[in-house]
Amino acid sequence: MIDHATVERIKDAANIVEVVSEFVTLRRSGANYKGLCPFHDEKTPSFYVSPARGMCHCFSCGKGGNPIGFLMEHEQMTYPEALRWLANKYHIEIRERELTDYEKREQSERESMFIVNEWAMKYFQDKMQNDPDGIAIGMQYFRSRGFRDDIIQKFQLGYDLVDRRAFAVAALGKGYKEEFILKTGICYKNDRGELIDRYAGRVIFPWIGISGKVVGFGGRLLDSRTKGVNQKYVNSPDSEIYHKDRELYGLYQAKKAIAKEDRVFMVEGYTDVISMHQCGIENVVANSGTALSIHQIHILHRFTSNITLLYDGDAAGIHAAMRGTDMLLSEGMNLKVLLLPDGDDPDSFSRKHTAADFRKYIEEHQTDFIQFKTDLLLR
Ligand SMILES: [Zn+2]
Repeated sequence: MIDHATVERIKDAANIVEVVSEFVTLRRSGANYKGLCPFHDEKTPSFYVSPARGMCHCFSCGKGGNPIGFLMEHEQMTYPEALRWLANKYHIEIRERELTDYEKREQSERESMFIVNEWAMKYFQDKMQNDPDGIAIGMQYFRSRGFRDDIIQKFQLGYDLVDRRAFAVAALGKGYKEEFILKTGICYKNDRGELIDRYAGRVIFPWIGISGKVVGFGGRLLDSRTKGVNQKYVNSPDSEIYHKDRELYGLYQAKKAIAKEDRVFMVEGYTDVISMHQCGIENVVANSGTALSIHQIHILHRFTSNITLLYDGDAAGIHAAMRGTDMLLSEGMNLKVLLLPDGDDPDSFSRKHTAADFRKYIEEHQTDFIQFKTDLLLR
């Protein structure tokens, strides 16, 4: 329970423009700001934010409200969740009593899943940084790819031990319930009814949702163990909090840069995103190898109308660049394509170039999609 004085402090601190800007790209329009409405699909902005009134409003669908109402509607938060989100943003300390066991049980299922995921992310980080096997295998893998410590921290990378029971034993020991360990997909049950780690022996890439919560995980088998294994990557199964066609890897870390640069780079893999950040290009996301869904395009469109598809220049890269492009164009996105030279992917290219050189290369070589398609047909 949050006390009344704290609630007032939070309400006083919350700035509607700053709060909405976390989710929607706003442009000044007289005394107000406007942007594409996050509550309905549109191509011209009818969503207005008034700093003077502390409110936002869509003149097309009618949704909006004050900062708390906006968060509840947009992020599907409860009232207390919205208050906590704001308190965190504005560094306001919340004094509240411990929840009773009954209240803990009453917390929503979604919240329980987020809590398990958050703990799991920290567990995987801890194993990679402190367990001898984690350091020798997981950390060694990321170091061998040239990832700096600050980048490993920024993307909260981790490692799950080879012992397929280790996570479940640790999580149950901490009081996390089997129900949510299964619902988040971190574990599954074998024939004997035991909980088995889905990501055992894999390095872990957490998927952070747009509001900063851990929605799922991707696990990658290490090179030495991929012989004869089909599934190099395993991702969280869809759940109440993770829908693979609605999430974009790296969006949480990229959203500010996307809005600032007014462009997003679309790449194929986790390591492409991470290497580009390390190189200094942060407006980049990936969607784990499938064509972009309409939901993902809508999410990106809130931040920018400009997208550049960035792929390796081989046949697979060209094939990937062609998928889902009709939908991007019909949704009003300005689409450019850039194929990298000599079998480079964004990951390897970032490691060989500075951000300035990379940007220069992009500027000089990205082509309008229609031109790209025409050239391809002529070839
Ligand atoms: Zn609207």
